[in-house]
Amino acid sequence: MADVLYFVVPCYNEEDVLPETSKRLLEKLEWLTSQGIVDEKSRILFVDDGSKDKTWEIIRGLHQKDVRFSGVKESRNRGHQNALLAGLYTAVNYADVTITLDADLQDDINAADGMLAAYNKGADVVYGVRSAREKDTFFKKFTAEGFYKVMKKMGVDVVFNHADYRLMSKRAVKGLFEFGETNLFLRGIVPMVGYPSDTVYYERAERFAGESKYPLKKMLSFALDGITSFSAKPLGMIASLGLALTALGFAGLIVTIVLLALSIIPAWGLLIAVMTFLTGIIVTSIGVVGIYVGKNYIETKARPRFIIEETLTDPSPTGDKTE
Ligand code: UDP
Ligand code: MG
Repeated sequence: MADVLYFVVPCYNEEDVLPETSKRLLEKLEWLTSQGIVDEKSRILFVDDGSKDKTWEIIRGLHQKDVRFSGVKESRNRGHQNALLAGLYTAVNYADVTITLDADLQDDINAADGMLAAYNKGADVVYGVRSAREKDTFFKKFTAEGFYKVMKKMGVDVVFNHADYRLMSKRAVKGLFEFGETNLFLRGIVPMVGYPSDTVYYERAERFAGESKYPLKKMLSFALDGITSFSAKPLGMIASLGLALTALGFAGLIVTIVLLALSIIPAWGLLIAVMTFLTGIIVTSIGVVGIYVGKNYIETKARPRFIIEETLTDPSPTGDKTE
């Protein structure tokens, strides 16, 4: 018997794309079922990440028309990563294998065939990797690729140009759940889960409707989160900076003494420059330490990462529909 597949699709204000996305995903699911690649009990699970538009109504409508559409509604917006997690927690009750992908279908759904083939050959995790970024704007390409490079330099094990389009087997998903951190950065954690993995390449398309839910501000905070959640290298960098500064200060002192002795500069000129420079460095360093202290503070509280308000599944976990 074929395995049960769940597509997990996070949605934040995606009313513009959902009608088309649901149509295309259902076509894909029907094809996979007809080929006997996945079981009839396979589903498409939309996670409403606290949308403010009609997203949940659309999901509910889809579920009422066709039980192959399932839905999970979070109590409020918790971000893409937590939405994925909320979806996986529901999916794992039914699925042997899950594929996560964005609601805007920028990730080519046909790559799912290759992912499933790799899964059937024994891979527990299959990473969807973008082969090119021709369709991205120069800015998006530059910032995104820079992000992967900085992450690598900081010692975070991420798969280059892999976003969150990925297949995970049931045991890989369960492995992921063992990581209890609040600031979840899936791209960094999934490789840490281990198990055999594989890669499938695809071309990323443009968003066909609606606009990106990842403005620059969110992107920057995502990158900063990724680095500070996985690496203590910035702390080491502060120490090196301090050392370099001490050496520089020592050399500067000698030069100043010589210049003052020759009456070339007034004493306070240099003083102001040095003071400003040092204050800047100190404040930056304190700031970086603060980021880590802040993380500890958040993690210590161990707050829930998401709260589910409503679930639409078939069959439902309790045997009756929650609607
Ligand atoms: N998303 C989410 N919660 C958020 C922001 C985004 O669930 O707070 C979802 C969004 O609906 C989409 C996916 O995450 O399915 C990726 O977002 P988007 O396409 O806007 O990002 P981009 O492709 O521009 O990086
Ligand atoms: Mg997108």
